[in-house]
Parts: sequence; C-alpha cells; structure tokens
Amino acid sequence: MPEISYPIYLDSHSTTPVDPRVFEEMRPYFTEKFGNASSLDHSFGYHASVAVQQSRENIAKSIGASMDEIVFTSGATESDNLALIGVMKRNKDKRKHLITSQTEHKAILDTARHLEEIGYKVTYLPVDEFGQVNPEELKSAITNDTVLISIMFANNEIGTIANVAEIGKIAHENNVYFHTDAAQAVGHIPIDVKKLNIDLMSFSSHKIYGPKGIGALYLRGISPRVKLDPIVYGGGQEKGMRSGTLNVPEIVGFAKAIEIANNEMETENVKFKIWTDSMIKEFSKNDGKQNGHPTNRLMHNLNVRFDGIESKAIINSVSKKLAISAGSACTTQAVEPSHVLLALGLTEEQTHSSIRIGCSRFNTDEEIQIVIDEIRKCVESLAKIQI
Ligand SMILES: *Cc1c(COP(=O)(O)O)cnc(C)c1O
Repeated sequence: MPEISYPIYLDSHSTTPVDPRVFEEMRPYFTEKFGNASSLDHSFGYHASVAVQQSRENIAKSIGASMDEIVFTSGATESDNLALIGVMKRNKDKRKHLITSQTEHKAILDTARHLEEIGYKVTYLPVDEFGQVNPEELKSAITNDTVLISIMFANNEIGTIANVAEIGKIAHENNVYFHTDAAQAVGHIPIDVKKLNIDLMSFSSHKIYGPKGIGALYLRGISPRVKLDPIVYGGGQEKGMRSGTLNVPEIVGFAKAIEIANNEMETENVKFKIWTDSMIKEFSKNDGKQNGHPTNRLMHNLNVRFDGIESKAIINSVSKKLAISAGSACTTQAVEPSHVLLALGLTEEQTHSSIRIGCSRFNTDEEIQIVIDEIRKCVESLAKIQI
C-alpha cells in the first residue's frame, strides 16, 4: 500500500492534478511536435492541426456535439464571458434581457453585472433550499425581450445538479437560447447537449485532471444555430470566434482528460458516493449538516456545516493533514459570506460554519477514513471550547 503523503488534497472543485496519462499524451506537443496548427504549408503545422482536429472530434463526441460546434478558449471563465457577452451583443438591436441565477460562479455573475453596466437587463433568479431554480419562476421571468438563459449545470460550492433538461425545454419553448456553465459537470456526469436542449455550454480541462488554461465553449450549430460576437479579435482562429494561436499541447491534454473521465466516470462515481455518504453519516454524529441537494448532487462533493463552529478554525487546525476549503476558491480570500450558501437561506453565521470537501480520483479509502477521523476529532475539541 502506498504511503500517505500529507496534506491529503480534498479541494478538487478548485482544481485537480494533471493525470499522468494526460501528461504523457501532451509531452511531445511541447517539443518535437510544436507546430502552429494554422501553418499548413509544412509537416510541423500539419501534425499539429491533425492533433487539434482529433482532439476536437473526441471532445465534441463526448458531449453529443459535432466538431464544428466546439470553440477552444482559455477556460470556463472565458467561455462564460464569450457566451454571455457574445450572444447579448449579437442580439442587442432586437432584445436585451438575460436570465441567470443567484448561485452562479463569479465568471457568470461578474459578466452579468458588466452587461447591466453597459445597458442590458439581467434577472437573477433565486434558488430553493437545495440550490435549484424553480421552473415556474423561470417561465414567468421570460419576456419578449429575453435573449438568453444561463443556469449552471452543477454548483461549484454545494455540488447541486440543476434540472437542466427542464430548463432547456422551457428555453426552447420560448425561443430563448440556453447557456450552461458545466465546468463542474463535464467529465463527472453524462451529458448530451442535444437531448438536454443546451445551446451553449462552458467547460474546462483543469477540473477533470487536465491542464489549466484550456477550456471550450460548445455552440449549437443547428436548430437553432447560435451566433455570437467575438470578444477576442485577431488572426481569425476558431472561425473568428476566438482569435489566437491554438494551444496544441493543452488541447491534446484536454481531450485525453475527457476521454479518461468518460471511461471511468461510472466506477468513480460509485466510489465517490460510498465516500461522501459515509462522511455525511459520520459527521452527522457531530451535528454536521449537509448543504445542497441530498441526492441530485456531484458524488465527489460534500459541503457540510457544523453550526456554532467556525469553518476557518476547522480548516486551520487540520491543515497539516488535510487540504480543504471553506467554499469557492475565488471567495476564500474574502471575509464575505458565500453568496451560494446565503441564497440557500443560510444565516451569515451558518455560511461561516461550512466546509467543502472535494474528493479526487487519486484519493484512497484509507485517506477518506483519515478525513473522517481528523474532522470529527477537531469538531469535538472545538465544540468543547465554544461551550
Ligand atoms: C472553475 C469554474 C469556473 C472557472 O473555470 P476556469 O477554467 O478556471 O476559468 C467557472 N465556472 C465554474 C462552475 C467553475 O467551477
């Protein structure tokens, strides 16, 4: 049995290590196969372009899309910006309303705020106690002015999975485009963009054991064909929708990461469910309460709250052994409470009593037992101090 190396990494929502199989696949594209995929006058460019084409096809197939529907970007943040700004700008002469939700990632919320500043109208839908948007409320928010609905597939703090099929159906019945930020969902749960009526979808490589700095936007090519204005101008790569020399090694790694994730998803999710279920059970002995949806959730995810105990105190006191986080990576530096947990109806104090555990492919049964023991021990001793 391999020796455990500390701290044990349990923050896979913020990022994951590159799988060694992905790294091996990428390696030659840094050195001997370094060509520019747009320089087709010689074999260097040709080999790079073949690798990009193959990767694009594999990525597309894995989500039920075709290869001309994939635009490579620098990650889900850029894909979110491109989807929202691109579609809203393209339609500005006819309609100017965007619908999203209060629990989105900052990449969506900050982009929506920017759109408001430059004259667009945005509705931020509330969510229920589990983090899901009410379909009836969504329907009544749609007006003749609505262009786009953007609701995330799976939440990066609480792991709640949205009713994507239902939202997509509502969007299409009302002739509104549907975008989803699926950075936490692709590679973790099966996705077919056509069956789910998704028109645009953001996803990223580094959340699924691929390299950082590469992602994609799926853009539906037919019924309806989605058109958007670019946000990056230049050499006209990606059919003018995202200029810039393609990052060939990362694209190759991204495709390999998705391939592995799809092959191993089922077995991994069985393992993750056993781990997170047993954590929930054990933590409940210390009055730990799960935040988010009890069943419609990412299986590797657990957001748990110990009322009356500061999450920072837990995180700091276990930090030698466990790398866990208080919430989203983007908000951990701030003292502000999590906007996601507040939207569930938690008090500010409760949001500061919540920790997020994200299991990974590389964790072991033994490590998860250590997580349970360490956190329970810590909560017990902190509870004594607080009384
Ligand atoms: C990580 C994440 C992002 C940002 O993705 P990057 O590729 O790091 O830009 C956006 N949305 C969600 C839901 C995420 O989890």
